[in-house]
Amino acid sequence: MATFGNLTDRLVDTFKNLRGKGKLSAADVDGTVREIRRALLDADVALEVVKDFTARVRERAMGDEVSKALNPAQQVVQIVNDELVTILGGEARRIQFAKNPPTVIMLAGLQGAGKTTLAGKLAKWLAAQNHTPLLVAADLQRPNAVTQLKVVGEQAGVAVFAPEPGNVGAEDAAPKSFFGGGGGNPVKVAKDGIKFARDKQYDIVIVDTAGRLGVDAELMKQASDIRKAIDPDEVLFVIDAMIGQDAVATAKAFQEGVDFTGVVLTKLDGDARGGAALSVASVTGRPIIFASTGEGLDDFEPFYPDRMASRILD
Ligand code: GDP
Repeated sequence: MATFGNLTDRLVDTFKNLRGKGKLSAADVDGTVREIRRALLDADVALEVVKDFTARVRERAMGDEVSKALNPAQQVVQIVNDELVTILGGEARRIQFAKNPPTVIMLAGLQGAGKTTLAGKLAKWLAAQNHTPLLVAADLQRPNAVTQLKVVGEQAGVAVFAPEPGNVGAEDAAPKSFFGGGGGNPVKVAKDGIKFARDKQYDIVIVDTAGRLGVDAELMKQASDIRKAIDPDEVLFVIDAMIGQDAVATAKAFQEGVDFTGVVLTKLDGDARGGAALSVASVTGRPIIFASTGEGLDDFEPFYPDRMASRILD
């Protein structure tokens, strides 16, 4: 995974220094923990996460499980692996489907995070599992957002519910686009979309909402109003893994503003430092459910903390 190439190299080098040692001295453990700390900070992992992580690794590495291990160096790698799985959220968590369809999934996040693309990816992935998703265009902030969602819907072969033509550039209706009410009101569009899904028996509704370049009160209020009005089964916070140190503040602001239930990491294919990926689950206590790894609609996968940890350490 390109995002973690550098981190992986650094960790692997650190572990190399331990290899072949029969017993680890306190200095060995200290040196290793210090290297891990530097490698994580250089990868843009949030300081509060790094501190907790290294404290746990140090404590365990000083304890019996390492001193009594046949191969102490390998045991340290195992501990780092376990603790990485923990900060990535522990057990994998999947989408929670509603008992009575439609399952409503709301997307929130900053502009450019990859929400609209993700809406298409998620819809296509769900459709392949015999679900009948409907995309709802409740991002009325960006002039192009409704059109973009329709294009994505068409590529994914999934229906799109959008505000009526005349309001938001919806004139070039794709065959599978439906136009409801709502006008310029995103809360109403979201509600109408869900009603439409219920009437037409779509079993999943994915509601795309507006993002701004930075966190702002108006955006948060709008997302929160939509959340209250539609009471979604899942609220997925979509975050660009490359945003670096801003990740934590952004995630906390969205957690407070809309109280999301899960995280989607995007742009894990990027070559920038992917510290966001390693910080967000831990600082918000919310699981990462999906990962997005490219611009194509198939560049998308369910997120498994254990697989991610192994990839980082490989
Ligand atoms: P939104 O403003 O949150 O709806 O973001 P968009 O879905 O419009 O995505 C913003 C840009 O990021 C677009 O150019 C997408 O093609 C691109 N993008 C989205 N997801 C990924 C990803 O996982 N990897 C890469 N490399 N680009 C992505």
